[in-house]
Amino acid sequence: MLSWKDMLKDNILRVEDLDKVLHMSPEEKERLVQICQRHPMRTTKYYFDLIDWSDENDPIRKLSIPDMMELDESGDYDTSGESTNTKMPGLQHKYAATALVLSTNVCFMYCRHCFRKRMVGYSQDEINQRMEESVSYIENHPEINNVLVSGGDSLALSNEMIEEYLKHLSEIEHLDFIRLGSRVPVVFPHRIFMDDELLSILENYNKKKEIILISQFNHPKELTEEAKKSIKALKNIGITLRNQTVLLKGINDDPNVMKQLLKDLSRNGIHPYYVFQCRPVKYVKSSFQVSLYEGIEIIGKAKDGLDGVSKAFKYAMSHPRGKIEIFGKTDTHFIMKFHQNKFKEDEDRMLMIPIDKSANWLDEDLNPME
Ligand code: SF4
Repeated sequence: MLSWKDMLKDNILRVEDLDKVLHMSPEEKERLVQICQRHPMRTTKYYFDLIDWSDENDPIRKLSIPDMMELDESGDYDTSGESTNTKMPGLQHKYAATALVLSTNVCFMYCRHCFRKRMVGYSQDEINQRMEESVSYIENHPEINNVLVSGGDSLALSNEMIEEYLKHLSEIEHLDFIRLGSRVPVVFPHRIFMDDELLSILENYNKKKEIILISQFNHPKELTEEAKKSIKALKNIGITLRNQTVLLKGINDDPNVMKQLLKDLSRNGIHPYYVFQCRPVKYVKSSFQVSLYEGIEIIGKAKDGLDGVSKAFKYAMSHPRGKIEIFGKTDTHFIMKFHQNKFKEDEDRMLMIPIDKSANWLDEDLNPME
């Protein structure tokens, strides 16, 4: 039987790998090659096989296969001000209680909508390479009660590295829990349910310090039998699961699709935690961003008739100043509130912003505002 590592040999990495399914002119192919030179293509065979090629708008295809829309240069690479929160390469501290570790720039799939597009798949500059120094930063900041190990994909690390992180972090007395950010349950669930060693590491350290796996399912089609098997394997060893979804044009911007996703997640024991407004990221913005006005309507309709657990999530925007919850709108204004604030003066701050139907994001200075 193949191991999950053997299965990676079938990853789809080159534009030529698409020849059998896409009929591109030489010019189109050349443009796709250029896009992939800038932001690499990588998808697992498992995820690739979920694509329905007869449907041009297949969500799995849009999330994994580069598209000519990526030629649009509008947007920015660091939309949440991550560079200003960086304390040392690979360690960010934006909110008092949370430290964020960028553990790797590798993922099993390079999602076309990724907000860390500036680094995934190639640049190592922002990756944590000084484990001891970052651990000592966290030790010296008792206000930090949790660490999010992200990347890239934290489960793309080797088992040894995962254990190394868990070993160090679980020894820090003032941490209440450790979060692992990963799309592995979505794009390569075999890495979980076929790896007893990984499961035993997670089980072992979960007894010392609670581990919460933060997944990112964006469409009901991603909740396959294999994905459910990985979720079950994690739940069986006591891991808590939470999901954050990104609201994405052409993927889940239909209230019925979003409702189905939220229901399916709860049914499978991954409680929806956030739905994020897609960031205005360069080479992502024009392909995937939905306006705030539409977003509020979609989320409102998706929540209608849902049970309390499935709609306990927050619809939010990861803004440079903080995580801003998008409540809704009146006839004239958007209503938002800071859920997490970087600056003291924003604590609990409400925002009433005159409606601009074409707005997809808020300016950094949050103007205009009352
Ligand atoms: S798995 Fe996460 S970090 Fe990696 S490409 Fe996808 S969204 Fe980006």
